[in-house]
Amino acid sequence: MIDPFGRPVTYLRVSVTDRCDFRCQYCMAEDMTFLPKSEVLSLEELERVCTAFVRKGVRKLRLTGGEPLVRRNVMSLIHNLGRHVKNGDMDELTITTNGSQLARFADELVEAGVRRLNVSLDTLDAGKFHAITRWGKLDKVIAGLEAARAAGLDIKINTVAVKGVNEDEISGILAWCGDMGFDMTLIETMPMGDIGDHRADQYLPLDQVRERLARDWTLDDSDFRTGGPARYVRVRETGKRLGFITPMTHNFCESCNRVRLTCTGQLYMCLGQDDMADLRAPLRASEGDDLLNAAIDEAIGRKPKGHDFVIDRDTNAPAVTRHMSVTGG
Ligand code: SAM
Ligand code: SF4
Repeated sequence: MIDPFGRPVTYLRVSVTDRCDFRCQYCMAEDMTFLPKSEVLSLEELERVCTAFVRKGVRKLRLTGGEPLVRRNVMSLIHNLGRHVKNGDMDELTITTNGSQLARFADELVEAGVRRLNVSLDTLDAGKFHAITRWGKLDKVIAGLEAARAAGLDIKINTVAVKGVNEDEISGILAWCGDMGFDMTLIETMPMGDIGDHRADQYLPLDQVRERLARDWTLDDSDFRTGGPARYVRVRETGKRLGFITPMTHNFCESCNRVRLTCTGQLYMCLGQDDMADLRAPLRASEGDDLLNAAIDEAIGRKPKGHDFVIDRDTNAPAVTRHMSVTGG
């Protein structure tokens, strides 16, 4: 699949549920309304769409959410999708998770063919963790991370930099990642969805964070790229990678290789735009995949050139009205 700007689309991110066992401050409102279950694709339907994308040349799939590992029977989907990795049709199946269920699933994920995980963690302070996630327990996540490491999974920690919340801790988390053998990626808050809060107050530009980190660490530039929004450095003292995702301060669209599927079967061709294509109707309209394939081709044909995120300080309105948990980030 090649989009109108000549970019090959080889990476599909799939939000398998909009539900979550946490309510992170920057992601969700406390009283979130979730989608009615009837609108959500079944696990079989999700597998069918993913497989159609793999047949069209997608080499990498990431399951996200909401919290992917709280969806009932999600392991059956993961086992079925893992087959594409085992038979060489796909390079990688990965998951972005909050880590709460990892102690339970780590070994099975490895059996299914998962090799790497992104685990979101914004603080190592149990009180602060509870304040940020509202419902989460740090010790459960740490136990999950230890189980995942013991199972042999490669782990990258995703940390959202939030002004006045974890900015003093980032150097300490980087040190901890070094000790644990984890890579780390820092993320700027993005203006997505109404979270009933003052978004502009949370925004911490990563160039400031990087400047502060450079006092404690030697950050060697690296040309490692994934086609995504992160820029990477190598932390000389730990040997691990540190990524910076700065959608607000840099444009990263020229190398974009990805599209995003929601759990209701809507395909977003850009994280920062509202345009989408409905794949659920063609999926449900027939048992064969002709209609689905045609809808995918049509959608890729209108993948936009780029996004336009801005946090509007006057109105505090999000640039994109859907929550991150809809498209999974
Ligand atoms: N529940 C899983 C997790 O937390 O890793 C997967 C879904 S979560 C929406 C994916 C990532 O998006 C997490 O790393 C989270 O911190 C990040 N995220 C959520 N809302 C965000 C926002 N408004 N700005 C930047 N990152 C956000
Ligand atoms: Fe849940 Fe992940 Fe959003 Fe936190 S960031 S509320 S864990 S979906």
